[in-house]
Amino acid sequence: MTAVAEHPEIDEIRELAARVAAEVFGPSAGERDVARTPVSVAERRRLGELGFLGIALPERFGGAGAPLPQALAVIEEFAKVSRPAAFQIFEANTGPAQVINHLGTEEQRARWLPPIIRGDSTMAVAISEPDAGSAATDMRTRAERVDGGYVVSGVKRWISNGGEADRYLLYCRMSDAPGAKGIGAVVVEKGMPGLSFGRPERLMGFRGIPSADVILDGVRVPEENVVVPAGGFGRLFGVFAIERLGNSTMSLAIGQAALDRTREYVCRREQFGKPLAEFQSVQLALADMLLQVEAARLLVERAAAGAGTGLPDPLQTSLAKCAANEMAKRVTDLAMQLHGGNGYTEEYGIERLHRDAHGWAIAGGTPAMQRIRIASELLGRRFDQRR
Ligand SMILES: Cc1cc2nc3c(=O)[nH]c(=O)nc-3n(C[C@H](O)[C@H](O)[C@H](O)COP(=O)(O)OP(=O)(O)OC[C@H]3O[C@@H](n4cnc5c(N)ncnc54)[C@H](O)[C@@H]3O)c2cc1C
Repeated sequence: MTAVAEHPEIDEIRELAARVAAEVFGPSAGERDVARTPVSVAERRRLGELGFLGIALPERFGGAGAPLPQALAVIEEFAKVSRPAAFQIFEANTGPAQVINHLGTEEQRARWLPPIIRGDSTMAVAISEPDAGSAATDMRTRAERVDGGYVVSGVKRWISNGGEADRYLLYCRMSDAPGAKGIGAVVVEKGMPGLSFGRPERLMGFRGIPSADVILDGVRVPEENVVVPAGGFGRLFGVFAIERLGNSTMSLAIGQAALDRTREYVCRREQFGKPLAEFQSVQLALADMLLQVEAARLLVERAAAGAGTGLPDPLQTSLAKCAANEMAKRVTDLAMQLHGGNGYTEEYGIERLHRDAHGWAIAGGTPAMQRIRIASELLGRRFDQRR
């Protein structure tokens, strides 16, 4: 079920995505989670061949140049089945590649987008640091100007695909200006001397999506890898709204999958001589789940439709992310409850949905930080969290 009538091209690509996700990634989804197996290069290239990695990226680089809702429909179908597979599509269509697309030079686009669209290489985003999470502008990673480029030192934390990705869009201090004003972004590449990774994190969810510190010790970055100079933090976060809609879609998929599986389960499972669905309290819980999923879907779809091939509105994006993240946590919790003991096993995949729901709600800015943004847009004022 979807909240609004869709365009035929979205229906078509959604159907193809659902089929590929179920056939290729469905059978191994549980095992991948248990063993924390990342998506292989061959699997990623297959996603590239099918066109899933360049849906919302320009045609001249091998993408489809389609509006954001098409990419989100594909992310959703994959995420219902396998978040690690969906992550590849999320990262390429809504992650740092979009920053290159919107803010990079034509030479940078030509250099980095085609291999991402083909699935030959990946780019992760590195913003957070040990002492700069919600307060991203407290970051300390520094890029010192030298002849022909910059020398970068610092530590980035919680980097999804850390250690696995070939390139990192790294937010860092590029001038002495305080706070957001000194922040810009460069691309660092695996193999550059001085770049290393921490041990793989063992997260509650997100299993099959590697996470590690990215450590920079005097990494020399050439001038041509500077994407946004100091002073561009606002522009970077303008594009980050696309990633937040990708994130919201992951949550939406998680909630929808939990609802779909629960609907099927309560019709099949019998207690007291009749299916669980016959009990009124179960019906009310199901109704609550649908209500929450559909409300989040409307907000995500509205923000995505407004973005088209451009940038989403920040207020609509924060409303969508906050609603979808919190919905996924609540709906998967209800799903676990309605699955009884079976919901608490790995076999049914419900606890996996619940664990992943928590991860997506922290990544990309917590619901509390979205609420601060929402209030700020509503009141037309900025609220300095340091005062
Ligand atoms: C699964 C996962 C994937 C991630 N992937 C990436 C990635 O690829 N790249 C990257 O750069 N980062 C990534 N992150 C990091 C993520 O962006 C940060 O974890 C997030 O921004 C929160 O920062 P923190 O963990 O330091 O929590 P903190 O900022 O310490 O926050 C802790 C709690 O305090 C609350 N809080 C903080 N400040 C305020 C305030 N002013 N008002 C009210 N409440 C407040 C928060 O909402 C939260 O509940 C990822 C994180 C996770 C868990």
